[in-house]
Amino acid sequence: MSNKLNHSMSLAKPDAQDLSKKQKLALGLGIVGLFILVLALFNLHLPNKTILLTLSLTLIAVGAVIYANATYLTKLKGIKNDGVWFKSISSRGALGWITGIVLTSFYIVLYFYEGLLGAGADGAANTGLVALFDPLSQLLSGRPASQWFVYGTLYTVAILAFGYKFILKYRHNRYEQIRTISVMFFQLAFAFLIPEFMYVMNSDLPYYDLKNVWPLNYYNFEQYRVDSFINGGTIGMAMLIFGLVSIFIITPILTFKFGKRWYCSWVCGCGGLAETAGDAFRQLSDKSQSAWKVERWVIHSVLVFVVLMTTAVIYTYLGYDANKYWLNKNLFLYGVAGFLTLVFVLIMIFKRNELGKDAKYGAIGYLVVIVALIGIHLFSSETKLFIFEAETLRSTYGFLIGAIFSGVIGTGFYPIFGNRVWCRFGCPMAAILGFQQRMFSKFRITTNGGQCISCGNCSTYCEMGIDVRAYAQKGENIVRSSCVGCGICSAVCPRGVLKLENDSMVGRINPTEVLLGNDVDLMDLVNKK
Ligand code: SF4
Ligand code: SF4
Repeated sequence: MSNKLNHSMSLAKPDAQDLSKKQKLALGLGIVGLFILVLALFNLHLPNKTILLTLSLTLIAVGAVIYANATYLTKLKGIKNDGVWFKSISSRGALGWITGIVLTSFYIVLYFYEGLLGAGADGAANTGLVALFDPLSQLLSGRPASQWFVYGTLYTVAILAFGYKFILKYRHNRYEQIRTISVMFFQLAFAFLIPEFMYVMNSDLPYYDLKNVWPLNYYNFEQYRVDSFINGGTIGMAMLIFGLVSIFIITPILTFKFGKRWYCSWVCGCGGLAETAGDAFRQLSDKSQSAWKVERWVIHSVLVFVVLMTTAVIYTYLGYDANKYWLNKNLFLYGVAGFLTLVFVLIMIFKRNELGKDAKYGAIGYLVVIVALIGIHLFSSETKLFIFEAETLRSTYGFLIGAIFSGVIGTGFYPIFGNRVWCRFGCPMAAILGFQQRMFSKFRITTNGGQCISCGNCSTYCEMGIDVRAYAQKGENIVRSSCVGCGICSAVCPRGVLKLENDSMVGRINPTEVLLGNDVDLMDLVNKK
């Protein structure tokens, strides 16, 4: 037995601080696998890259599997979060900070200094880490690897390996198992393999991860992409049409039926990584009221910005060659303004009461967009939006949202701010889906408040920072824009209080001020009704 001081106040031994022999062996294997990648990074002339890459990825995957088996299969099914606040990695300790810094540095190099990873510039051969992945890239698509291929491969391996761990950890809960298999499938097939095969079929088409819907792929309607789609024959046109259908038909229907969980927790790659590799950090999300306030301002600003940027980008290129596109600049602008006005008016007529104070955010957002659209109409030229070069605005947006927020902060800071910091504060797709989930969806989490013992497990492990317990204590349904329907609150509730359900929209939002179990005169409340 270890002589280390045990800081836990738990009466039952939390036994989560020491690693078993098997876990140590598994960690060792994983570290050797990573070490091979580091060796490649230093551009040593490694022999047989195919064997080394296979060995490295296999060691990482096998290490993760052995670690997961040793951690969870030795115990009964059930809630498995013993000691999370006592482990350095999961409680913002030294290991957490080191991991955060290493991840963040990796993202900075990936986005801004790809040469350091060995990506060959201007057709030159790859070296270093990127060259190590050349054999796999050649096998899949017949071209050398790029830094994005390396990233995509490691991303997929992480989701598969940690997905396995997640499935074992939550093996008492079928919902968690099935949705994890779903994100593993979508990452492997849609994000990784299909784009490579599509390149083999038609190398002129741009990279397209079919599950990435606008505005997550905010760049999808830029001129070079639209032109490639149009020139790409039947497959290209099909991709362009699919891009539009997924925004205006598939997404609204699925969100109406199931809430935003169909995307954020079952399909999306960012959500997939957050749920699997980021699972150890979900308790780090900030639950305070002030964080909720910041969240609403930031995410709605991102949404307004992405609508404006996409509109502006399409607007600028529609004017370059009027014969090329059937849509002209002004018609497009009127169309966007008309569509947004229609949505706004319908919501104000039918949903004003449900919105409550949030109506203020909607009205401000709508006004900003309309004023900006008028500005674009009056003050823009072929290449300029107001006083800014269209190209500069575009790259600044791509830099701020695509690189800094989604990569460097969104993933690099998992061990500091929690695993869904990007989904909560920065993802414009989450903002649109959340808006629809709140307004027009059958989804809610019901709470059987009388059973709640106020343990707080649900709030602690809600990665979106929702104070679930506050709803449970009142027996109130949880209908929140930010809820990604991960179901973890329900999976860790020892009393079976919470249930994710799709049902009629009538009575879905049922705010109540009554705290169940508090000293209230229930007859008084009944008489008031
Ligand atoms: S409320 Fe529950 S289902 Fe929704 S995000 Fe939080 S933990 Fe996941
Ligand atoms: S709903 Fe369940 S997990 Fe949340 S406080 Fe109540 S008993 Fe605990």
